[in-house]
Amino acid sequence: MITTDILTDAQTYLMNTYARQPLVLIKGRGTKVYDSDGREYLDFVSGVATNNLGHCHPRVVVALQKQAQRLMHVSNHFHNEPQIHLARELVRRSFADKVFFCNSGTEAVEAAVKLARRYSREVLRRDRHEIITMRGSFHGRTMGSLAATAQEKLQKTFEPLVPGFRYVPFNDAGAVERAVNEQTCAVLVEPIQGEGGVNVPNDGYLRELRGICDNHDLLFMLDEIQTGMGRTGKFFAYEHADVSPDVMMLAKGLGGGMAIGALLTTSTAAQAFSPGSHGTTFGGNPLACAAALASLETIIEDDIIVPSAGDLGRIFLKGLEDLKSRYAFIKSVRGQGLLLGMELDFEGKEIVTACLKEGFLINCTMDTVLRFMPPLIISSEEIDLLLETLDRIFKKR
Ligand SMILES: *Cc1c(COP(=O)(O)O)cnc(C)c1O
Repeated sequence: MITTDILTDAQTYLMNTYARQPLVLIKGRGTKVYDSDGREYLDFVSGVATNNLGHCHPRVVVALQKQAQRLMHVSNHFHNEPQIHLARELVRRSFADKVFFCNSGTEAVEAAVKLARRYSREVLRRDRHEIITMRGSFHGRTMGSLAATAQEKLQKTFEPLVPGFRYVPFNDAGAVERAVNEQTCAVLVEPIQGEGGVNVPNDGYLRELRGICDNHDLLFMLDEIQTGMGRTGKFFAYEHADVSPDVMMLAKGLGGGMAIGALLTTSTAAQAFSPGSHGTTFGGNPLACAAALASLETIIEDDIIVPSAGDLGRIFLKGLEDLKSRYAFIKSVRGQGLLLGMELDFEGKEIVTACLKEGFLINCTMDTVLRFMPPLIISSEEIDLLLETLDRIFKKR
């Protein structure tokens, strides 16, 4: 089928929920993807911070092939080995004692919201339900996580929202302290706001939030759906801040490209759930868990990938800073590891399109923030290629 026909079918049959590029991707290998016309692109989107090991990593592919031949799905009324092994490895590698698996980021957030309310009522025996979240946050699109997401433009037209969320400015621990009341049961925050424009808080912010949660018996819940799994140069972003949460949500980079989400908690917080209190049909299925396990084992065994994401991030950020010093329309560059942003004083769409024409996939969030989140296995030469291309594009402006 020729590309224009595929795009016509897309118009005809798909709901109009995304501003998609007119591009049909048919193959990926490592840091590169290929379209239906055979063009090659360097991928600085990575399925939105998802393909951390690049596309079709051989170890993930083999794990999927083997597991697909053995067992793809069974009910959570039974045990399956990939789910247990994956939970064990996540526990070994994090603050957590217990794991609940689901299929996506938003489901992990829903699980966290339910756990927080139930923890307060069933474990602490205090009837509290409010969760404090941050302005500019992004926690997902289902009704609970949408209510947690303090962005009016995403919530508008979907009211009434799920009640029980209180919004405060990001990067302001004092505002969290002032917002705590007798209804508050948890604080939910991203270590770096991803969709909100790659907003990095001050050093000490997460530690202050941890302190507030301890003082008021609140669950400290980190949404590491975008920042987790090595993206920021540590396995989890909370490691930079030298804090440990009670609850953490993972998804995106967890599955090596497969759809999977997870809620990780301390054993104390995990007491909230008992048989029947929460569940899912597909969550923790053997196929997705086998892919995630292969991806996780690869990252753990190769002890270069995560620190090199930090090193490459520093090189990349320096390159972006250099561009900023030469183009006045660049308002700021920021980020950590391989989650970087460049804020422009105009809409970034045209730059995304220009990069596409040059063979680079990049993303733009909040209209004016170019976001770069390549696979963690990218090379510094590939980063240079993008920086040179951006320079050429900016020069023509
Ligand atoms: C992407 C994202 C989500 C939602 O994940 P989905 O899998 O799209 O539901 C939630 N929180 C953060 C921080 C994200 O980046």
